[in-house]
Amino acid sequence: MDLLASHGHEQVSFFQDVHARYRGIIAIHSTALGPALGGTRFWAYTSEAEALTDVLRLSRAMTYKAATAGLALGGGKSVIIGNSEARGREATLRAHGRHVEALGGRYITAEDVGTSPADMAVIRAETRFVVGLEGGSGDPSPVTALGVYRGMKACAQHRWNSDSLTGKTVTVQGVGHVGYFLCRDLHAEGARLVVSDIVPQKVKRVVTEFGARAVAPDEIYGVEADIFAPCALGGAINDKTLKQLRVEIIAGGANNQLAEPRHGDLLEERGLTYAPDYVINGGGLINCGAELAGKDEAWALAKASEIYDTVLQVLTIAREEGVPSYAAADRLAERRIAETRGRTKGPSSR
Ligand code: NAD
Repeated sequence: MDLLASHGHEQVSFFQDVHARYRGIIAIHSTALGPALGGTRFWAYTSEAEALTDVLRLSRAMTYKAATAGLALGGGKSVIIGNSEARGREATLRAHGRHVEALGGRYITAEDVGTSPADMAVIRAETRFVVGLEGGSGDPSPVTALGVYRGMKACAQHRWNSDSLTGKTVTVQGVGHVGYFLCRDLHAEGARLVVSDIVPQKVKRVVTEFGARAVAPDEIYGVEADIFAPCALGGAINDKTLKQLRVEIIAGGANNQLAEPRHGDLLEERGLTYAPDYVINGGGLINCGAELAGKDEAWALAKASEIYDTVLQVLTIAREEGVPSYAAADRLAERRIAETRGRTKGPSSR
């Protein structure tokens, strides 16, 4: 209970099914805004303590993401402890489905690391509290990319008093699902693109289709440009890369861009404008929210477009309250939750 209290969680559920070789944990951080939504991670954790720490951390992050995305959803996450490649996967997933069902809709699951839309279909046999099925809301990447593009424009507005990206140079690290669609949107507005990826074919595609200039993966940080968009893996902003950056804005789709929170402080000290990752990449969650609410892609795109206003709001809080933007995002989320609960709340702990 102390661990729950320290992370501010409502509920943590442990469930096992010996016959199905299932051991899983579902963490519900908050249902203040609605049912707790978050994916199922299937991972060979080295200990139960490691699994618990991960699920507590990830579920809390979902609360903040849903709150800033303006969705009537709370934050949750689940983990299945085990080897996702092992035999008996169907039985394990069905046991997880029963675990989700047992919570009666307080938690809704989706795919995450180690699970796929096909796995969600297996889980669906046991519970209706699951999204991200094949034929459901589909690939979230175009929606995520639109949100990133709109959030980037909000950063430009905040920084340069104009949200036009025409003629601006944007470096994009990782041109996979999100990076590709982001390049498409930026190219349509007349931005200049400099891109990197570890897969040459992906680079070639954006060079050919959008006239991007390609650089080697480790060169992307040092390119002189207006905006840097991290769209690959987490930790792009760290001690090593921060020194190399020659941009004014960082706005990209990757999760966990800051290697540590202190890198957000360092960005602030260096006078860079940083769009907090979980705010600007909220389009993926919005896509799931659309599926849950029975809305179409047009609704999801319109909602993702509103990330523009949210990013502006976050940057305004940061400026007015003298905190780094990553901390301002937390404050915005906490205020939305407090407002919904119908009471006011003091400043965040950050
Ligand atoms: P993806 O795997 O399709 O794309 C990532 C790309 O990054 C790949 O092309 C990969 O080759 C490349 N890459 C990996 N390491 C690299 C490096 N060192 N330098 C340059 N390129 C590198 O994944 P995605 O779905 O486009 O997601 C990208 C990021 O956005 C991830 O951090 C993901 O968690 C986050 N995100 C995605 C969505 C979504 O809707 N897909 C939503 C929210 C957040």
